[in-house]
Amino acid sequence: MRGLVYHGKGDIRCEQVPDPTLETADGAIVRVVKTAICGSDLHLYHGDLPVPSGFTMGHEFVGEVTETGSGVSGFRTGDRVIVSGVIGCGACARCRAGQVIRCERHETRVFGMSPELHGGQAEAVAVPGADHAMTRIPDGVSDEQAVLLTDILPTGYYGARRAEIEPGDTVVVIGAGPVGIQALLCAQLFGPARIFQVDRVPERLALVEKLGAIPLHADQADEALVEATDGQGADTVIEAVGSDATIHKALVYARSGGTVSVVGVNTSPALPFPMGLALMKNLTFRTGLVPVQELWPNLVPLVASGRLTPEIVFNHHVGLSDGAEAYRRFNDREDGILKVLLDPLA
Ligand code: NAD
Ligand code: ZN
Ligand code: ZN
Repeated sequence: MRGLVYHGKGDIRCEQVPDPTLETADGAIVRVVKTAICGSDLHLYHGDLPVPSGFTMGHEFVGEVTETGSGVSGFRTGDRVIVSGVIGCGACARCRAGQVIRCERHETRVFGMSPELHGGQAEAVAVPGADHAMTRIPDGVSDEQAVLLTDILPTGYYGARRAEIEPGDTVVVIGAGPVGIQALLCAQLFGPARIFQVDRVPERLALVEKLGAIPLHADQADEALVEATDGQGADTVIEAVGSDATIHKALVYARSGGTVSVVGVNTSPALPFPMGLALMKNLTFRTGLVPVQELWPNLVPLVASGRLTPEIVFNHHVGLSDGAEAYRRFNDREDGILKVLLDPLA
């Protein structure tokens, strides 16, 4: 079969790879129907993660079950499934409850990122611990929507839920990339009076305005937010960028007693953190990786019923055979590419 394979910094190739095989009784093989490129895949593309050459990329994919191990009880051949981008051991109590990030055996892994867990930017994937890594795609949810349920819609929801938005609140979302946009859609579920969204990219700001946010260019955001909140700050801030500077801004934009919910990834061992500011404002600060499976019971029905339309982020559709070029163009943000959907059959 074909897959998008990592060969070192900036070198992704579409090439033949071995077909996946069932390695454990709790596993399943999934034929991929749709897959996407994530901003997080660019960390590999930039050579920031220690993955071996010859590794298949991708943690956002959905498909059809073609084979199950003898220990799989919840799925059978022919089921259309969403596969979580992040999985745990699949056996401990926390994994069974969907809290894979807190796996008791410390086996939290990401497809196409954790060495040896080959990813889904391919024609097929081996999914270990299938009963706790997958859920069925119900009627009313398209493959395109389902792909977003593997990672970034749950991430946006996680950020919004942990921001503790109350009806009538003023919310700021920092970042209007694919994750920031999902955070906006999810923040709207909690009934805020207004959501300001900060970015630097004009097309992204225009899109979030269409979706109901008040767009703010990063260069004007400080002043605009002081004015809009009479100097009080926002009730809650969701950070969806991950830079030192934007995490700092999130703390600045929050009001006294407010909440800051960071979903942007920042792995700094020594983030410059304005402790005095957080202390004097009595802030609540939250961050974390998304427990995808735990959030499906909330999110799948919201998508199926049409309350959430996460698929608006896809503005670039290509075949797997053009995947290498898609990585390059996505990385360079050519033609305003926001999110790439890949068709494994093309
Ligand atoms: P992205 O790079 O497409 O979007 C980031 C946006 O932030 C861009 O539009 C950029 O213009 C904007 N930005 C950059 N600097 C800014 C500044 N100073 N002020 C305002 N805006 C600024 O990335 P994405 O795919 O949307 O992902 C966002 C983050 O979410 C990444 O760090 C990604 O790794 C992370 N992520 C986290 C989880 C999780 O589990 N916590 C899961 C998936 C992704
Ligand atoms: Zn992702
Ligand atoms: Zn576990």
